[in-house]
Amino acid sequence: MNRFSYARASAVAQAIDQHRANATAAFIAGGTNLVDLLREDVARPAVLVDINRLPLKSIDATPNGGLKIGALVTNSAVAYDDTVVMRYPLLAQAILAGASAQIRNVATVGGNLLQRTRCHYFYDAGTPCNKRDPGTGCPAKEGINRIHAILGASDQCIAVHPSDMCVALAALDATVHLSGTDGTRTLPFADFHRLPGDTPHIDSNLRADELVTAIELPEEGFAAHHAYVKVRDRASYAFALVSAAVGVELDGDMIVDAHCALGGVAHKPWRDPEAETLLRGEPLNAATVRGFAQALLRGAQGRRGNAFKIELAARVIMRAFELATQRSLEEVAP
Ligand code: SF4
Repeated sequence: MNRFSYARASAVAQAIDQHRANATAAFIAGGTNLVDLLREDVARPAVLVDINRLPLKSIDATPNGGLKIGALVTNSAVAYDDTVVMRYPLLAQAILAGASAQIRNVATVGGNLLQRTRCHYFYDAGTPCNKRDPGTGCPAKEGINRIHAILGASDQCIAVHPSDMCVALAALDATVHLSGTDGTRTLPFADFHRLPGDTPHIDSNLRADELVTAIELPEEGFAAHHAYVKVRDRASYAFALVSAAVGVELDGDMIVDAHCALGGVAHKPWRDPEAETLLRGEPLNAATVRGFAQALLRGAQGRRGNAFKIELAARVIMRAFELATQRSLEEVAP
C-alpha cells in the first residue's frame, strides 16, 4: 500500500478544492471498496479526502413528487427508509440483495455508484489488466471469466459493474446530481456509467473535479408491481451472476409500461428502452416477455466460462416479470 496524506472536508466546495489540488486524490466515505483497492495496491492516491462530514445525508421529497437521496446516506438507511419502502420497494429489495448487513451500514449511495469491478485480475496487481494499467492486456478474455460481461464488452475489457443498487436505479430512471468546480449538473442514470470501449480504466462520466452529491428518483416507483431477482453462486454476500430489476404498470393483463435493467452482464446496468417498446400496450404473457428478453439480449456474446449467462439472463427476466406481476406467465399465455 502506498503512503497517502489525509484531509477532511466539511463543505462540498472545500472537498472539491482539496480533491482538485492533487491529480491522484480520492474521496473516501464508507470506504468499503476503496480500502480494498488501497490494500491491494490497485488504487494509489496521494491524498484521501474524507467527505463524511458533508451535509449530504438526508432523504427529501422533491417538488415534482420524487425523492432526493443524499450521496452520503448509507445503503441501510435507504433500504429501511419508510418512503423508499412504500414508494420505491424495488430499490430497497435490490440494496438488501447486496453485500452484508455490516457493509450496508457504512457503504454510501455515492460510493455504490463508484465501486469498481470485482474482476479477479483487476485486484491482482501482479497480472496485466487494461482497467488497472491501461495497455497491459486483458487476461480475463481467455482466463477465468465466469463473472464477466456478455453484453457491451470490448476487446480491451469484459468486466461488469458489480452493484445491485445501480440496477434498480437504472430501472427507476434515476438522475445523478453532481457538483464540480464549474457548478452543479445532473446526468440521467443511463448516462452515468460507461461501456469499456478503448478506455476501460474510465468507469463513469464523472469529471475529475466532480463529486456525486445525490440521486433523484422520479415520482413513478412501480410500487405495485416490481421485483429484483438476483442469481449468484452462494446465497448471500456474493455478486450477481445475473440480476434483473423489473417494474411494471398493468391495466388488467395489459402492460401499460415496463422497465427492466440487468446486472452482472455488462460494464454498466444494462437497459434498452427500444426493447421495452415491445412490452408497452401488449398482453402480459410468456410470448411477450420472451420476445422482450430476446431483444434485450440481442448481441450477447459468451465466453468459455460465462456463456451460460445468456440463457440464465432470459430466465431471470421471465422470473422477475412473474414475481413483479404475481402471474404465472405460462398460465395466461394465449
Ligand atoms: Fe482488467 Fe477488464 Fe480484463 Fe478484468 S476484464 S482483466 S478488469 S481489463
